[in-house]
Order: sequence, then C-alpha cells, then structure tokens
Amino acid sequence: MATMTKTARGPQIRQTQCFIGGNWVPAASGKTFETINPATEEVITQVAEGDAEDVDRAVKAARQAFEKGPWAKMDARDRGRLMFKLADLIEEDIDELAQLETLDNGKPIRESRHGDLPLTIDCLRYYAGYADKIHGQTIPIRGNYFCYTRREPVGVAGQIIPWNFPMLMTAWKWGPALAAGCTIVMKPAEQTPLTCLRMARLAQKAGIPDGVINVIPGYGPTAGASIVKHPGVDKVAFTGEHRTAQIIMRDASETLKRLTFELGGKSPNIIFDDADLDAAAVGTHVGLYLNQGQCCCAGSRVFVQEKVHDKFIDKLVSMNKARKVGDPFDPATEQGPQVDKAQFDKIMHYVGLGKSEGAKCLTGGVRSGDRGYFIEPTLFADVKDTMSIATDEIFGPVLSVLKFKDIDEVAQRGNNTFYGLAAAVWTRDIGKAHRLANQLRAGTVWVNCYDVFDAAAPFGGFKMSGIGRELGEEGLKNYTESKTVTVALDK
Ligand code: ADP
Repeated sequence: MATMTKTARGPQIRQTQCFIGGNWVPAASGKTFETINPATEEVITQVAEGDAEDVDRAVKAARQAFEKGPWAKMDARDRGRLMFKLADLIEEDIDELAQLETLDNGKPIRESRHGDLPLTIDCLRYYAGYADKIHGQTIPIRGNYFCYTRREPVGVAGQIIPWNFPMLMTAWKWGPALAAGCTIVMKPAEQTPLTCLRMARLAQKAGIPDGVINVIPGYGPTAGASIVKHPGVDKVAFTGEHRTAQIIMRDASETLKRLTFELGGKSPNIIFDDADLDAAAVGTHVGLYLNQGQCCCAGSRVFVQEKVHDKFIDKLVSMNKARKVGDPFDPATEQGPQVDKAQFDKIMHYVGLGKSEGAKCLTGGVRSGDRGYFIEPTLFADVKDTMSIATDEIFGPVLSVLKFKDIDEVAQRGNNTFYGLAAAVWTRDIGKAHRLANQLRAGTVWVNCYDVFDAAAPFGGFKMSGIGRELGEEGLKNYTESKTVTVALDK
C-alpha cells in the first residue's frame, strides 16, 4: 500500500501506486511524479509514473480477467450488484472523496460535494441497472433458419481521461464498460490521479474481481500512448483535446481499435430578446464559469440579440463582480484555481490576445491573488467572430459576448466552428427554440437551461468535438460487439 500522507487539511492520501491485477505496485521503472495542489502550488504527494511496461502488465491482467476470471463467468445481474456496491461505498465516503477531488483539482468543495460526487454515484447506479438488460434481437431472415444477435462485451477497454472532472469521468467510463462485461485499463490525467486510484480501491472493496479494473497513473505520450498501441486492448475511449485525439487515431490505426472520443468545444449560447433575461443571465454565467471554465461544453460564445445586448451585459458584469473566487475548501467559494500552471498560462495568453485584438475587457483579465492559479472571472464584449477568443477553446473563466440581429444569422454564425459539442438557446418562443435546436450542429442543445446532465441522456460531439456518445443506452453500445448467430432448422 502507498505512503500515508496527512495533508494540512482534509483527506488522507492512501493510493498512489499502479493498480494492476488487484495489486498496488510501484511503476516498473521505480519512477514517480508529483501531483500539485493548484490552490497553493504545493506538492500533495508523489504518484507512481507508469509507462509501457506497467501498461503491458495491466493489459495482461485485464485480458486474463476478461477471458478466464470469475468476471467472465459471472451472471450479468451479479455484475450489476457489484456495481451498486461500488456506488454505495463511494456514497459512504462522499465527504472525504469530495475533499480529495478538491485538493487535487482545485474545484470548490460545494461543487465536488454536491455536483461531481452525486453525479458519479448516479452514473454508476444507472449503468449497474443496465448490466442485465443488454439484449440482442431475433431476426426473421429468409429460409428455414433461426437467426439472432447477441451483444457481447468488446473486450479490454483502454480508457484515458482528463483532469476537469476526474471522478465523474471515471464513472462515465467505468459504468458502461463494467455493465457490458468488459475489463478496463485506465489512465487518469497526470494532474489529478488521486480520486481515480481511490475509486479503484473501493471497487476492490466492493468485490469487483482482480484484473477487471486496472489503473496506471502516468503521462499521455508514455502510459497513454502505450494503452492506445497495445494489441491486447480492443477499444479506446478518450476524453480530452482534439489534437490528442488525432494522435490517438493515428496510433490506434495499426491495431484498428474501436475508438470513441469526447473532445472540446466552442459552444454557442444564444440569447434572444424575448428570453427571460434573468434566467438566461444566470444560465450563461454558470454555463461558462462552472468548474473555472474548464468544461468541454462551456458556453464560451455568448450571442446576444442587439435589442437586449447592453442590458444583458450589465447583468453578466454584476454577477462577475459578486462571484467569490478563493480557497476552494471554503464552502462559500464559487471559483477555485485553474488546474495547473500550463492551463493558467494558456488562459492568460488568450486574455492578452482578446485585449490586443480589440475586444473590450469588462471584468477580470487578471490573476487573482499571488499564490495558486486563480484568475478573475473575465468578460469580453465587442467580440468579433474571427478573434482568437471567439474561435479557440480557452478552457478557462473567459466569456466572450457577440451581438446578433436575427435567427438565420445566428444559426449560421453559431455553426461556424469546427467544434459541435453543445449549444443553448434562450427564448420564450417555442417555435424558434425548436427551429434552432434542429439547425445547430451540436451533440446537445439546451433550451432555456445550461449544463443539465443526466446519466440517461447521451452526450458527445458533432464534427471535431467527438466520435460516438457517452451516457445513456448509446454510451453502453460502444462497449459491445454485435454477433449474429444463424442456425439451420430441420426441414
Ligand atoms: P488536456 O489539455 O485536457 O490535458 P489532453 O488531451 O492533453 O487534454 O489530455 C487528456 C488525457 O489524455 C490525459 O490523461 C493525458 O495524459 C492523455 N494524453 C495526452 N497525450 C496523449 C497521447 N499521445 N496518447 C494517449 N493519451 C494522451
């Protein structure tokens, strides 16, 4: 078992090693890396730095568990019971897990405790209920045959996740994989490995057999790429940047792995002059600043109809001024630090571009405090479609407001991006809402709301925002192969 470090505040760090075949082991190389508290810039602990050798061991353990272990023979309903047990154990430890997430990621405790954790538990329970409801079909083919399909697990699933919702992304990946009967080799993000490792410990405690879940902490080009290239991995599910997905697609081509991607966005959030402007302002504020702006579906292009443009901006400005930025462990805090220095620097670079390209910075645009990666909630007005802050994913607390005249214009401008993850429309005109919902090329369209997620509702991207969908029944299908069985009947 790993080192026992008691941090100045909050949770104990118990798991810092690779989890392979039910054992906690150091990286084969003996290497470790630091995980940092982004609120203080201090090292939380050292974590095993897995690479190709560790991935190879994990894949062997996962293959063994998939082909021969108790998991392979287990009734589907019993698989579901183990998943329910895992969800229950997470719920028992909910306060400590929320603290661990806040420590490693920097997100405010009120969000990790009342957002990330309940959604994580809900997702695992949703898919636990699916384990014994994965059906094939009987098919009336020509001739004297009995033809049916089976939905079988795809095999060993390689899962690579980012740092913005570490536990929730783990649940989005484990839920459908376990329900389908797959086994897993997961790599959490190097910035936030701690909660995923703790979840693996709870999975072990729940009785999920050894080798079903393996976790290799480490870096993308080493541990991550080894998962993608390994011939013993059948499928890769990845959440992260589209540029990384392009590398993964190339690396996976050798072994023709099944791939699902959930990538970035530059989501349009459209406010018509007939909307409930107070509700739209709150939705717009949360839709961008939630999680320090580190959401793939952040509503980062806010289109406001000209008649209400100035009034709406006033509302956004006053909310930004009231937003409480600071210590993520303070229950009143609404915004914590960005996850690391690289993200902080990237965001500040875009803030500089916004200013130099001629947008008007109405709030923020500066660091908050002098320790930790905090940035004041930033709002740019007078943004033009071609400015960098309107075209590039910033992944930070930077909101851009653009003015529009009518529905056709805003549909065209909203779609004028290579991304297509999410969009939102605020209006009291139901016809206009549905018309735009049809026209917008995005995997999710919210009407008079933002960031409404549910384990049952598919989520994913059009265009370069992704391939395939997560959550819901669609998310489950990605972890199955369809097999057609045809039986000749007696004449
Ligand atoms: P972000 O900017 O959110 O960190 P990335 O796409 O860089 O997005 O990272 C998301 C996840 O992908 C992380 O776990 C990271 O380590 C991993 N990753 C990065 N590069 C690669 C790669 N070449 N192959 C596989 N995984 C990678």
